Amino acid sequence: MPRPLEALIHLDALQHNLQRARDAAPDAQVWAVVKANAYGHGIERVYEGLRAADGFALLDIAEAERLRKLDWRGPILLLEGTFEARDLEWCSRLNLWHAVHHEAQIDWLAIHKTEWPHRVFLKMNTGMNRLGFRPEAFRNAWVRLSALTQVDEVSLMTHFSDADGPRGIERQWALFNAACADLPGERSLCNSAATLRHAASTQVRGDWVRPGIMLYGSSPDYPEHDATAWGLRPAMTLRSRIIGVQHIEAGETVGYGSRYTATQPTRIGVVACGYADGYPRHAPDGTPVLVDGVRVPMAGRVSMDMLSVDLSHAPNAGVGSEVTLWGEGPAVEGRPTLLSIDEVARHCGTLGYELMCAVSPRVAVSVVHPHGA
Ligand SMILES: *Cc1c(COP(=O)(O)O)cnc(C)c1O
Repeated sequence: MPRPLEALIHLDALQHNLQRARDAAPDAQVWAVVKANAYGHGIERVYEGLRAADGFALLDIAEAERLRKLDWRGPILLLEGTFEARDLEWCSRLNLWHAVHHEAQIDWLAIHKTEWPHRVFLKMNTGMNRLGFRPEAFRNAWVRLSALTQVDEVSLMTHFSDADGPRGIERQWALFNAACADLPGERSLCNSAATLRHAASTQVRGDWVRPGIMLYGSSPDYPEHDATAWGLRPAMTLRSRIIGVQHIEAGETVGYGSRYTATQPTRIGVVACGYADGYPRHAPDGTPVLVDGVRVPMAGRVSMDMLSVDLSHAPNAGVGSEVTLWGEGPAVEGRPTLLSIDEVARHCGTLGYELMCAVSPRVAVSVVHPHGA
């Protein structure tokens, strides 16, 4: 038998979450953001669940090529644009739309030989200070681009730094709007947090929204709202089994560095999942884990291939019990159980984004089709 650790990818959850993005931004077109190999889920694996999107957004030409191999004929947007002039050959060949965020990218376009002009998304830096032209340089970039025969339509985009928090989007949105008020072209502004929190306004919503994390069922503004509050379902379940049990006395310790000390006689369950699988090594004692659908606390340091939990609240659990690291657990008394990746991430001082992207290649993955189809 292979090691019992596996990741399940739930196609129905992806479809459902995509629909949630549509509901939150009615009339807008939806880029399904599938960068970083679909946030660790696998582009080929999520494709069936997300193919109802209007386009796919990512950064790697190699990933774009994988989408074309799946026979996706619709729009693909390179969110970071080209990294060198030669990338434009690939954009022409694979019909990729690309962001333009600095002058050299325009220079490369100006000398690019192509039969078909490219659709580009001109990016404004409205305060994130990562990629894009500053508002005062934006118009000039737009004029240069629009004059090129290599360029078809120019769309306008920006990215919010604080859509998930109290600073909000107001300042950045106002800058964007003022700097491109009289420019033609479709607009794209909203990531997941902005789509869920701010896209009720048609002006903020624009023509294209760019949800990523919400498609995978993680809440972009946890803990203010959890995934359930946003109506999102986990697209990934990471599950394993208990492979060993130890009965320890008060004062005995568990694992490397003896971080956990029992205060009473305790049953410890050892789970086949460790940091070499992508589970965070810095998960502290108390990080929640489901055993047969019951919440139990982590006890002791995560090691390369194993982690340990305190089974005091799961007296019936033993070797072979099902363990949910995050996602959907087994039903208990007819009720489904859930452990949100966001809650696990919070215990570990990180975000659902990082945990899902980190699931390692040695973890077996299966795709769960809707209704067991
Ligand atoms: C990653 C990314 C997104 C999606 O962000 P989420 O927070 O995952 O929704 C949208 N736009 C750009 C430019 C991105 O890089």
